Amino acid sequence: MTTQLTGTRALVTGGARGLGLRTAREIAQRGGTVVLADIDSEAGAEAVAALTAEGHTASFVQLDVTDDSSWEAAMAEVVANGGTINALVNNAGIEISDLLINLDADNARKVFDVNVLGTALGIKHAFRAMAPGDETRAGGAGGAIVNIASVAATIAFPGIAAYSASKSAVQRLTKVAVAESGRLGYGVRVNTICPGLVPNAMGTKLAVDMERLGLFGSVEEAVGAVVGLTPSGRLATEDDIAAGVAFLLSEDAAFINGVSLSIDGAMGM
Ligand code: NAD
Repeated sequence: MTTQLTGTRALVTGGARGLGLRTAREIAQRGGTVVLADIDSEAGAEAVAALTAEGHTASFVQLDVTDDSSWEAAMAEVVANGGTINALVNNAGIEISDLLINLDADNARKVFDVNVLGTALGIKHAFRAMAPGDETRAGGAGGAIVNIASVAATIAFPGIAAYSASKSAVQRLTKVAVAESGRLGYGVRVNTICPGLVPNAMGTKLAVDMERLGLFGSVEEAVGAVVGLTPSGRLATEDDIAAGVAFLLSEDAAFINGVSLSIDGAMGM
């Protein structure tokens, strides 16, 4: 039987499109309610309309994951419109390809800002919402966080240095979060998922970048190299990743904490 998520109220960052939207749909299909949080409110509204039309309970909140005050405002809005959350998917992320020899400092900073600081702030505000309350805040009854890293955290592929470093940082953030949650009794599990390359907008752009940077002769060659490095012999799909997130959020994963789950056909083993 498919893992159920009845009783789960999840916030999915970067939920307006791509993997975030697919994951939100998966959570909703399994009985959860979802809040899509994204910097792009137009795409967010369209995504909520689509999920609602399918009969799911979904809402949108505008959020810039890099901005602490934006998190404050978004979480206040979420709580006011349906109560606290017990699940967070730190999915928002960006990739800007560059060879190290040409590294653009501003672009690298942007990648670290969204992927690392954005994830850290997400953990902060999820802990505040889910950990038992005190005199300063209402708190919650525990929950689960899934941080989306990448196969790029576990391999050395050329052209994606800042991105790879940022995703390795996400893995380490997860482990420190687990240590603090355990030590201080927050009742929150925190895990990482490392997706393989998904041929959606971000994945396709990455393959185009590989040709532009002169690393591969063509987009097809770049994609072929990834598949060639993957024992399962194909690219990842959004379905593959969404199913993994749903599992890690569920009670079936009640004693799974601090892991980095590769969903990459063994590319990064
Ligand atoms: P995407 O570009 O399609 O979607 C990313 C979403 O994040 C967008 O809706 C965007 O508006 C939002 N976003 C960007 N910056 C934000 C910010 N500051 N605050 C809030 N939202 C912001 O990408 P995707 O393919 O769906 O990727 C989702 C996650 O999966 C990312 O963390 C990415 O690094 C990771 N990932 C993707 C792949 C892939 O091949 N696509 C592979 C491994 C890991």
